[in-house]
Amino acid sequence: MEKILVLNSGSTTVKFQLFKMDKGCHEVLAGGMVERIGLSGSKLIVRSAGGNEFSCEYPIENHKAAIKAILDYLSHGFLKNASELSAVGHRMGHGGEYFDRSVIIDDDIMAKIYDTLPLLPLHGPAFVHGVEAASGLLPGVPQVATFDSAFHQSMEKAAFTYAIPREYYAGERIRRYGFHGTSHNYAARCAAKILGYKGRIICCHLGGGASVAAIKGGKSVDTTMGYTPAAGIMMATRAGDMDPYIPLHIMKTQHKTADEVNRMLNKESGLFGLSGGHSDMRDIIANAEKGDENCIFAIEAYVYGLLKTIGAYVAVLGGVDALVFTAGIGENSPLIREKLCARLSYLGLELDKEKNEKRPAPAEINTPSSKVKVLVIPANEELMIAGEAYDLLEELASGESLAV
Ligand code: ADP
Repeated sequence: MEKILVLNSGSTTVKFQLFKMDKGCHEVLAGGMVERIGLSGSKLIVRSAGGNEFSCEYPIENHKAAIKAILDYLSHGFLKNASELSAVGHRMGHGGEYFDRSVIIDDDIMAKIYDTLPLLPLHGPAFVHGVEAASGLLPGVPQVATFDSAFHQSMEKAAFTYAIPREYYAGERIRRYGFHGTSHNYAARCAAKILGYKGRIICCHLGGGASVAAIKGGKSVDTTMGYTPAAGIMMATRAGDMDPYIPLHIMKTQHKTADEVNRMLNKESGLFGLSGGHSDMRDIIANAEKGDENCIFAIEAYVYGLLKTIGAYVAVLGGVDALVFTAGIGENSPLIREKLCARLSYLGLELDKEKNEKRPAPAEINTPSSKVKVLVIPANEELMIAGEAYDLLEELASGESLAV
C-alpha cells in the first residue's frame, strides 16, 4: 500500500488529491485546492472522502507555501507525517520530444523539463514551481512527472509534421505534440476494459479546453491539439483550427499586436465568440432552448467540427470500435452526444436515447445492436497520475530500468 499525493499546479492555484494505492485498487483519502496564491483572499479548501469540507483563508504567498499548507493539513489525520508519502505525482504540461511516459524526476529530468519551458510559456512555469516546491519540502520522496503531451509521442511523423519548411522542425522542434494525453490515455484504458480488447477508439475530451484523439491498440495515432493547446476543434474560448493567414491579416489590417490577436484567438473565440459571450455550454444550451439564434448556431458549429474530425479519424484508424465522451461537456451533455451520434449512423452507430439521457450517464450508451460502442467515461487525470507514480515505484522496487 502506498500513499501518493497528486498535485496540479496552476499559476494561482494548486489542486491536490491524496490516494491510497494498492495493486489494482485505490482509495481517495482527501482532495482540494489552494486558490488565489499570492493574491488577497488566498484559501486552502479540503474535501475528505467522507464529504466533509474544510476551508481556511490566510495569506499564501507562493507555491511552496501552498504545498506546505496542504501537507500540514494532511498531517492531521491523513498522513502520520509528510514522509509517509511514497511519491508525489505532478501534472506537467509539455514534455516536448523528451518524454513519452511518466518519469521519476532527477537532475537530468529536471534539466529537460526546464528545456521544454519555452513550449508552454503560460502554464509551464507553474508546473515547475510545483515540482520545485514539493522537492524542497519533501526531500527523499520520489517526485513523478506526468506530461500532458507524453501519450501522443506515439504519433507517426506524417501525423505530427506541419507542412512548413523543414528547418522549423529541425531547429525549434515545431510539430504537433497534442495535449490532454493523460485524460485520453485514461479514457482509452477504461474503454479497452469495456470492449475487452484495445481496439480502435476515438476519444472526445470535451471540457473548457477540448481535443479529440484517434487511438489504436492503446497508442495515440493522431490528435487535434498541436504545437500548442490552441489548435484543433472549437473550445469554450479558443478558436481552434483556421486558415493560418487570418491572424496575420488581422494584424496587418487592424494594426493589432501579436498579444492582442493571441488574446482574441484564445479568450474571445470558440463557443464564446460565436454565441455572443457565453463560454459555458450549459448557458449556451439554455439560451438556445429559448430561441437565441447565436447560441443555436454555436451548438451547430461545435457539433459540425466534431463530426468532421471523427470522420477523419475513422479514416485514419480504418474504422472505429468505440466512440468515447469524457470531460465536462462529454460527460454531462446528452444533447451534444445525441446531435453528434445522430450524424454517425452511417457507421452503424446507434445511440440508446434513454441511456443517453440518464444522469449520470451509464458507461455504455449504445444500443445492443450498435456496431460502434458509445461510452461515457468520467475524466480522472489525478487517478491516472497516481497510477503512473505507483507503477514507477513498483518498477523501481523490482529494479527495472527507468531510462527515458
Ligand atoms: P476544464 O477544461 O475547465 O477542466 P471541465 O472538464 O470541467 O473543464 O468542463 C467544463 C465545461 O463542461 C463547462 O464549461 C461546461 O461548458 C461543461 N458542462 C458541465 N456540465 C454540463 C452540462 N450539464 N451540460 C453541458 N455542458 C456542461
